[in-house]
Amino acid sequence: MFRIGFGYDVHRLVKDRPLILGGVEIPHRLGLEGHSDADVLIHAVIDAIIGALGAGDIGHHFPDTDPAYSGISSLLLLKTAADLMRSKGFHLNNLDATVVAQEPKLAPHLKIMQENFAATLAAPMDRINLKATTSERLGFCGKQEGMEAFAVVSLIQVAP
Ligand code: MG
Repeated sequence: MFRIGFGYDVHRLVKDRPLILGGVEIPHRLGLEGHSDADVLIHAVIDAIIGALGAGDIGHHFPDTDPAYSGISSLLLLKTAADLMRSKGFHLNNLDATVVAQEPKLAPHLKIMQENFAATLAAPMDRINLKATTSERLGFCGKQEGMEAFAVVSLIQVAP
């Protein structure tokens, strides 16, 4: 059986927060605000996986009112989502995701992010595709008020 899931997330950019994307801390004068480490890319991917499983959304599984998730690395949340995926008999077929960020340049960091997703989701590197784009200085991403991410996954059921 084959499933597709879509995920979308936004976080606000603020001063005095680290910028963490795809589990990688990226030097920048602004960082993403949120209850966890606010990794907007991982959150979009988690929502895509949960969506493909027909299991609701990230807020249902990891409520931002739960102190257990305060400041938590989103890689740990991704691992929990991967465990849920496996518990339902699915594995990742492929992941395709895009981060929208005006600054900084993300291209030099995409390979390490790709390795993080491949390791956490137990998938080969060539099944993980990550992209970064600006929004041509338009809208909240272009004005560096925030960043957004979009993700699509396909899952294959290997056991009922
Ligand atoms: Mg989020």
